[in-house]
Amino acid sequence: MNDGRTIAYFSMEIGFRADTPTYSGGLGVLAGDTLRSAADMRVPMVAVTLIHRKGYFFQHLDQSGHQTEEAVRWKVEDVLQPVDVRVNVSIEGRTVVLRAWRYDVIGRGDFRVPIFLLDSDLPENSTQDRALTDVLYGGDNRYRLSQEILLGIGGVRILRALGFDTIDRFHMNEGHSSLLTLELLDEQVRSRGGGAVTEEDIADVRRCCVFTTHTPVPAGQDRFPLDLVGQVLGPSLIHEMQQVFCCEGELNMTYLALNLSHYINGVAKKHGDVARHMFAEYKIDAITNGVHASTWASPSFVRLFDAHIEGWRDDNFSLRYALSIPPEEVWKAHLEEKKRLQDEVNRQTGAGMALDRLTLGFGRRAATYKRADLLFRDLDRLRAISRNAGPIQIVFAGKAHPRDEEGKRVIEAVYRAAEQLRGDISIAYLGNYDMNMGGLLTAGVDVWLNTPRSPMEASGTSGMKAALNGVPSLSILDGWWIEGCIEGVTGWAIEGTAADDAADADSLYRKLEGSVIPAFYNQQDAFISIMRHAIALNGSFFNTQRMLQQYVLKAYFE
Ligand SMILES: *Cc1c(COP(=O)(O)O)cnc(C)c1O
Repeated sequence: MNDGRTIAYFSMEIGFRADTPTYSGGLGVLAGDTLRSAADMRVPMVAVTLIHRKGYFFQHLDQSGHQTEEAVRWKVEDVLQPVDVRVNVSIEGRTVVLRAWRYDVIGRGDFRVPIFLLDSDLPENSTQDRALTDVLYGGDNRYRLSQEILLGIGGVRILRALGFDTIDRFHMNEGHSSLLTLELLDEQVRSRGGGAVTEEDIADVRRCCVFTTHTPVPAGQDRFPLDLVGQVLGPSLIHEMQQVFCCEGELNMTYLALNLSHYINGVAKKHGDVARHMFAEYKIDAITNGVHASTWASPSFVRLFDAHIEGWRDDNFSLRYALSIPPEEVWKAHLEEKKRLQDEVNRQTGAGMALDRLTLGFGRRAATYKRADLLFRDLDRLRAISRNAGPIQIVFAGKAHPRDEEGKRVIEAVYRAAEQLRGDISIAYLGNYDMNMGGLLTAGVDVWLNTPRSPMEASGTSGMKAALNGVPSLSILDGWWIEGCIEGVTGWAIEGTAADDAADADSLYRKLEGSVIPAFYNQQDAFISIMRHAIALNGSFFNTQRMLQQYVLKAYFE
């Protein structure tokens, strides 16, 4: 099966199909978009992830916004091809047998990028071990560490068993797969006939590894206490690999990847700066994330681009020429998408949304730092803005991680605000946010709202999907928006502070009242001009085609 593939892309989650629950949010969607672009661009890549038979959960929301979760059972056989391969991985001293399934991402020229999904659900394994590849981000620390052993160490072994023995680069999409570096070190030592790890071995492995970090705060790093690591991974490894483990008393997956990668990057310019502060001893570059343009352009914008911008799929830079699409056609395409979304919202929630009203959208994981409820800090003020400047309506969506109680409370807070604003501002919360809904939402609202607590948003990608569809952002200046925002040209900035929610909300209200609502209701030409600039300046750049070109130049083939 080794057909000259030279880049192995490892990710704990990959959103390769909207309806297959192998992703939880931005990280997995980015991985899927990266592979879609690799297939389009014929980049010789192969990807590795876990199968997640029970997936990321199905979200139920009751009348007060209380979230409950249900496991999703998807029919693996309907989506994936079985692959006849088995490898062994040791977990807590037991031998766990791993198999793999294959899914091919097919590019524009029929070029294929295979994804191998690791699966421990085999009769040879104990009941406990059979469940190890079931749930994405489920279970306790021990479960997570076991999953990361299977992904990193099992993943390399599966690739070798399949004949991929000329891989030049191992790309770790976040630290969950860092343990692959230990397997590569082990291969290095074995190829010399054994002995201790040398500086040269480390240098050799480092040359092969690329690490993309996504977490701008230390609390977000994946860490395991050493006694747990000793039990699960084996005590000898820790002892032998002291040089590359960090830090006191724990295995830090971020540091492991940092120590063993020759190229390290953050996912936006600002995040590169933040990462260089966090990890001052390392050389860290930045490659800003993107989205796969033809996946995230909505049906009516695909038609519009096909009619006006020849070859936009093969050359996303040409979206720059969106500036010459007649304004009335942009508006018409937008109204089609707006109607598609509103019909769905009204059908699901009975919210009674109206096509001529300014619609704000907010769809993302319900993590507290994303502050879905920032808009509701002062309900009287919001009510007055909608009454005096022009009426607004708002669509929300997003899942909280099952163990994130605070995230769940944010959803409930949005429900409470919706209840209190009933009659003044209609607000809908759609359940079970996934990529399909993400596409519908980012294309069907008028303005995409983004209110993370700075500097927590490493990049963010949903605003890029919106931009492709001519939907400008009203966003805290953080992540990609620092690069994408030209005030009043591609959207609007909310001044973000690190700790002052009240000041951030104040800035949000002022922008909404003073700039966004007036542009929408009173200056339609100016508003459509912003829509076209969102496509031309941001859609043309914040895509995975440009992003992957940068990885090729800086990290893969340099
Ligand atoms: C794009 C997308 C995300 C990422 O959105 P952010 O703005 O980066 O938070 C998360 N979930 C789904 C379903 C998406 O489509």
